[in-house]
Amino acid sequence: MATKRDYYEILGVPKNASEDEIKKAYRKLAMKHHPDRNHGDSSKEAEAKFKEVKEAYEMLSDDQKRAAYDQYGHAGVDPNMRGPGAEGFGGFAEAFGDIFGDVFGGRAGARGGRQVYRGSDLSYAMEITLEEAADGKDAQIRIPSWDECGTCKGSGAKPGTKPITCTTCHGQGAVQMRQGFFSVQQTCPTCHGSGKIIPEPCTTCHGQGKIKNNKTLEVKIPAGIDDGMRIRSSGNGEPGTNGGPPGDLYIEIRLKKHDIFERDGDDLHCVVPVSITTAALGGEISVPTLKGPAAIDIPDGTQSGKQFRLRGKGIKGVRSSYPGDLYCHVRVETPVKLTEHQRKLLKELDESLKKGGDKHSPTDKGWFDKAKEFFS
Ligand SMILES: [Zn+2]
Ligand SMILES: [Zn+2]
Repeated sequence: MATKRDYYEILGVPKNASEDEIKKAYRKLAMKHHPDRNHGDSSKEAEAKFKEVKEAYEMLSDDQKRAAYDQYGHAGVDPNMRGPGAEGFGGFAEAFGDIFGDVFGGRAGARGGRQVYRGSDLSYAMEITLEEAADGKDAQIRIPSWDECGTCKGSGAKPGTKPITCTTCHGQGAVQMRQGFFSVQQTCPTCHGSGKIIPEPCTTCHGQGKIKNNKTLEVKIPAGIDDGMRIRSSGNGEPGTNGGPPGDLYIEIRLKKHDIFERDGDDLHCVVPVSITTAALGGEISVPTLKGPAAIDIPDGTQSGKQFRLRGKGIKGVRSSYPGDLYCHVRVETPVKLTEHQRKLLKELDESLKKGGDKHSPTDKGWFDKAKEFFS
């Protein structure tokens, strides 16, 4: 099959030529190449030209055929170039869905060739407590929703008026831009892809055809969710354009700072104050967990900063098989507001400890030597 010339080129008109311009160009060329006016040697060539001009005019003067041609070139209007089994323009366009899927949301042509866009995704920040994150919760959130405008019934046009077909793109919602060898399709700058222009917009919705409202959405927060994770609520984003699918809503989780626990993945950390005597003598201490206080035994001579691990007392992450651990970090407390008697007892203790020398002091002897060096 010989390469076919561009219909617009044949008629010598620009891509955005009006119906009138196309008609005028056709008449002029048809007269010039008409077989009745061409005899002799040039008659064969004229006949071919005449046929070519006639075909170009037939395609470009028909709105639907011109739209198909604008979008897909000769393949869009030539029945010989359609895929087997494809019926009509819609069928053909669907065969091309893979290629144009990004632009059309896979539904090209099904709506008269207008650009179909998926709605934008929305993001919603939700702050939850650590306890809620650990156990999961059913939350209710208020999100924007869009209802059809009651005044214009969704058309966007003032009652009594109608949207008109966009003259820039002839209702296609897209225009062809030439870039070197390629013809690139772009969203029509006049109608922004809707294929329509609203001369008198509805005053209720300002031509949008829809009105923004709020709706309550039930959201299931899974147990174990962590700060920064997102939950997708499919289809709850902004509505699509020209019947395109809506976007999704993403709920972004923010963990509130907890008074006691700090989370690190599935593990929890907390600081546990321990009295100087319990730290020295050892004994039972009370530690907090997410499920209430628990008791643990600490050995004698426990130092500040020592950590005790409580297996399985952390959080079971969304994708974890086991819960994490709880780390209790000991902070030995120096007693305050001492009575005379207590001071006396401590002084006595101090005397006794000094007699024992270094053996009561667990800190590395090397540290004292380094300190001495530093000060001298
Ligand atoms: Zn309206
Ligand atoms: Zn347009």
